[in-house]
Amino acid sequence: MTDQTVSPDAAATERPFQADVARLLDLVVHSIYSDREIFLRELISNAADACEKLRFESATGQAPAPADGFRILIELDKDKKTLSVVDNGVGMTRDDLESGLGIIANSGTRAFLEKLDSAKDKVSSEALIGRFGIGFYSSFIVADRVDVFTRRAGQSQGWRWSSDGKSAYTVAESDDAPAFGTRVVLHLKTDAEDFLEPARVESVVAEHSAGVPVPITVRAAGAEDRKVSDGAALWARPRGEITPDQYKELYQNVSGQFDEPALTIHWRAEGRHEFDALAFIPGSRPFDLFSPERKGRSRLYVRRVLVSTDADLLPPWLRFVTLIVDSADVPLNVSREIVQKSPVLGAIRKAVVGRILQELAKLAENDPAKYSEVWANFGAPLKEGLYEDPERRDALFGLARFISSTHPEGGRTLAHYVADLRPNQTAIYYLTGADAEALAASPHLEGFRAKGVEVLLLSDPVDAFWVSTAVGFEGKPFRSITQGAPDIANIPLAEGQTEREKPELDASAATCIARIKETLGDRVSDVRASDRLAESAACLVASDLAPDRALAKILAGAGRLDASMKPVLEVNLGHPLLRALAALKGPDSADTFAEASGLVFDLAQIAEGEAPDHAPDVARRLSNWMARALAGNAGA
Ligand code: ADP
Ligand code: MG
Repeated sequence: MTDQTVSPDAAATERPFQADVARLLDLVVHSIYSDREIFLRELISNAADACEKLRFESATGQAPAPADGFRILIELDKDKKTLSVVDNGVGMTRDDLESGLGIIANSGTRAFLEKLDSAKDKVSSEALIGRFGIGFYSSFIVADRVDVFTRRAGQSQGWRWSSDGKSAYTVAESDDAPAFGTRVVLHLKTDAEDFLEPARVESVVAEHSAGVPVPITVRAAGAEDRKVSDGAALWARPRGEITPDQYKELYQNVSGQFDEPALTIHWRAEGRHEFDALAFIPGSRPFDLFSPERKGRSRLYVRRVLVSTDADLLPPWLRFVTLIVDSADVPLNVSREIVQKSPVLGAIRKAVVGRILQELAKLAENDPAKYSEVWANFGAPLKEGLYEDPERRDALFGLARFISSTHPEGGRTLAHYVADLRPNQTAIYYLTGADAEALAASPHLEGFRAKGVEVLLLSDPVDAFWVSTAVGFEGKPFRSITQGAPDIANIPLAEGQTEREKPELDASAATCIARIKETLGDRVSDVRASDRLAESAACLVASDLAPDRALAKILAGAGRLDASMKPVLEVNLGHPLLRALAALKGPDSADTFAEASGLVFDLAQIAEGEAPDHAPDVARRLSNWMARALAGNAGA
């Protein structure tokens, strides 16, 4: 046997890792103490991927395959203190080595790093790393040197990649590469020598990798080979024979997450198109759920041959689902792009989406507590479906859960809302904004509270969009309470509420409103007396024809709307502040009036959770007012 631990070849070129990688290495190696065994899961998953790639290439006549079938070998060598993971899969060219192991080109990894940086203070990085797949680099948790010997299927040249995982790696030609595939040799650190024990390794494989669709054997000197996994595809087995742990382990392998699936859906579709499907709803949010580069987690198999790990089987709003589909009806073509365009796939996609929505509805009915967790994690992407996929709108309306002004605990459905409509109520009212707490305290709600009218409080960014495109629910349109004039005059007061004394819009009030408008100039499109306020002095609303204020903010932020759309200032004429303002008379009061009007506007902004236009200026003016008020008190 050739020595695979020779010192670096003189001809080998040394290359530094990219900065990302150096940072990741450092984090991985220094943060993981408890979950260190996950390195094996990562290496086995790469080995299995490599076998499945070659299985595809040989099935489509592009490359030869090993005569005795695909397998993964884990070799333990107590003398050399090495653990090797050997596969007879597709192998790597020099370029593959450089791009696969030398840099992190993969956007998922970059998003992970960013998330890690921003979340570092809140969660231990150990907990974070433990939750995500971290790939080949996890080798350096247990090894102080890693050698990779590899040969690309169909090519004669073999390579050796070698690194201590610190700052650089070398790549050189090598005659020690296996005939097919890759041998990853870990030179174990002294504190990781427990991984030289077959029993230890077998239990890790059984726990993390038994569902991998390639057989796995553990080989140790002086002992017989032990097959620890038979490589049968889990999804093709009868459901009754599969344990929850086996499902969980497959889910973790495919999704790269470490949590438990909240929902496992396994079925065999019969009829026009037959396929096996296995879908998992994760138990927690994937870290890159809102990253635009998030890749799908859909695996498409054609008769057990993996065709794509990024199959276009789910709409973007189901991007959190981990899905495996195995079909006999899809043509196995050399070009994955052609496979993706197969009409059969369109039909499968439709069936899969329908089934997932159906199972979610079932969960909502049978286990509301569990369902509310799912909704808390994935309600936001699901709501994207409300405007992206009108065909699914009714099903999604059935799944949607809301927090409302009358039900701050949440869990409200649109059906609940409509069943509890007040007499003469003609619309479904909502309030959108970025901050759920600010919404619940919004002055806009005052008039609706007095009439016992429920208002949906929508705080996901996507909410502003679907409410503006949805036609309504059960014949009731959606209506923003910050847009236009409220139409709740005909709704009777709630029990226990007394009619507020409606301040008269007399000449002095009308003059006051006109003066405020003149003073505020182009900060407002109009100033008017409010019907919706009870305790607050003022609030801002969108004019009748303008989009809802929350939506306007998002559109202006995206440069899609002229930011010059001015709000309407509504004032509460019954409020002491407005009364006092209307009573200000005389030539000396002009400055005071102007300053007070400005502050009324600023305070309305603040009450909505917005920053005022010129915060330092507002602070300065408020301090002046307080100083004067206090001095007045001291004098009295
Ligand atoms: P990921 O598996 O998520 O792509 P990894 O860090 O695990 O990330 O692996 C990086 C890349 O290196 C893989 O995408 C693959 O191209 C290549 N690679 C790793 N291990 C093997 C292997 N045993 N055989 C062939 N290619 C491999
Ligand atoms: Mg991997």
